[in-house]
Amino acid sequence: MSFVRPDIREMKAYAVADVPEDFIKLDAMEVPYRFSETLQQQLAQELSAAEYNRYPNPASCGLQAALRDAFAIPEAAKIALGNGSDELIQLLTMLVAQPGATVMALEPSFVMYRHNAALFGLNYVGVPLNADFSLNRDTVLAALEEHRPALLWLAYPNNPTGVPFAREDVEAVIAAAPGLVVIDEAYGAFSGDSFLPQAGQNDKLLVLRTLSKIGFAGLRLGYVSGSPMVIGELEKIVPPYNMNAFSLIAAKFALQHMDEVNAHIGRLKDERRLMSEILSSWDKVQVFESGANFITVRLPEAQKAFERLKEARILVKLLHGSHALLDNCLRVTIGKPEENQQVLAVLQQHCFYNRHSDLLPAAASRMKRHKRGVWAAAAIAGALAAMVLWLLSGSLIG
Ligand SMILES: *Cc1c(COP(=O)(O)O)cnc(C)c1O
Repeated sequence: MSFVRPDIREMKAYAVADVPEDFIKLDAMEVPYRFSETLQQQLAQELSAAEYNRYPNPASCGLQAALRDAFAIPEAAKIALGNGSDELIQLLTMLVAQPGATVMALEPSFVMYRHNAALFGLNYVGVPLNADFSLNRDTVLAALEEHRPALLWLAYPNNPTGVPFAREDVEAVIAAAPGLVVIDEAYGAFSGDSFLPQAGQNDKLLVLRTLSKIGFAGLRLGYVSGSPMVIGELEKIVPPYNMNAFSLIAAKFALQHMDEVNAHIGRLKDERRLMSEILSSWDKVQVFESGANFITVRLPEAQKAFERLKEARILVKLLHGSHALLDNCLRVTIGKPEENQQVLAVLQQHCFYNRHSDLLPAAASRMKRHKRGVWAAAAIAGALAAMVLWLLSGSLIG
C-alpha cells in the first residue's frame, strides 16, 4: 500500500455508529421528529416528480431563494451549497491550502476542522478554551497575532461542549483575524443568536449552516454565506453537481414548512431546559450551558455511565479521553421526552446508587425487555424507593 499517503494509512475512518434498531440514538444530534403524515405525503409526491434523469441545477431550483427567505440571509451575501456542511469544511480548507498556510480552531471543538487541515498538509493550531468551555479572548487574540491563520474556525454554539461564546468576544476575534473566519452555526437554530445578518458585510466573515441539526441530517444540505468575492472564489472549486436532485427538492420543501420544523425545535429546547434543570440539581453532575440540541455534562465515572446507558439500549457520546478538558464528560443529544426520561433514570441510578438493582422503573423496563426478566424482580423491588426519589428531584427543581 506504499502508493497511499503514509499519513492517511495511519488514520482511522470516521466511525459512523452501527446502531441496533431498538436503541435510543442520542449520539449524533439528530432530531427525533419527522414531518406530519400530511406533509410526508406531499413531500413524497414532489419527490416522485423529480427529474432524476437530468443533472440537478442548484442555482435555478429555487433552493437558494428559499434559504434566503427562511433565514433572512442579507442581499449583500452570496450563498454556496455543500453536500452537508462537512463538504464545505473541506472545500473552505482547500481554498486556503497553500504551502505554509495555517488553520486555527478552538479546542475542544468539531474534529473535522483539524482533520481537514491535516489532509491538505496545512499547519494546524488548536487554541484551548477555558475550563468552563468559554472562549478566552486574550488567548485567542494572542494566537491570531502569533500564527496569522489563513482560516479560523469558530463553532457558535460550540460542539461538543454546547457552550455559546459571548458575542462580544466573537466579534473581537473576527475584527482581529488576519484571514477568513468561519462562524459554524450548525446549532444556530437552538441558540437564538446568529452572525447571518452580518454575512456579506466584509470579506473575512463566512457563516456556515446546515439543515442537519434541525431535522434533516439525511438530506446532506449545508450552506455558507459570505461576500460575493469569497463565495465567488469558493464556487470555482465546488464540484459540479455536488447536490443531488432529491435533496434539493426535499430541502426546499422543508424550508417552505418551517412552522413544523420550528415546532420541533421549540419542543427540543423545552426538553433541554428541563433536562439541564434536573441534572443541575444533582450535586454530582456538572452541567454546561447549552445553546444546542444536546447537553454536555461531567459526572463521576463517565465511562461507566456510558456503558450503563448502552446496557439500557441508549447510545450517547463519550467525550472522556478525547481531550484533556473533556475529562469525565458525556454528550447527550436531546430526544423525545420519554427518551430523555430514560437517560435521566439511568444517570440517576449511576450517580446515586451505583447498583443495577436500584434501577429506576423506566430504565428497568427497557433492560427487562432485553435481558428477559433477569432484572424484573429487582426493578419492582427498587421501583417504590426510586419513585420517591424521582418525585423528590422533580420538586427540588420546582
Ligand atoms: C454536525 C456538525 C457539522 C456537520 O454538519 P453536516 O451538515 O451534517 O455535515 C458541522 N459543524 C458542526 C459544529 C457540527 O456539529
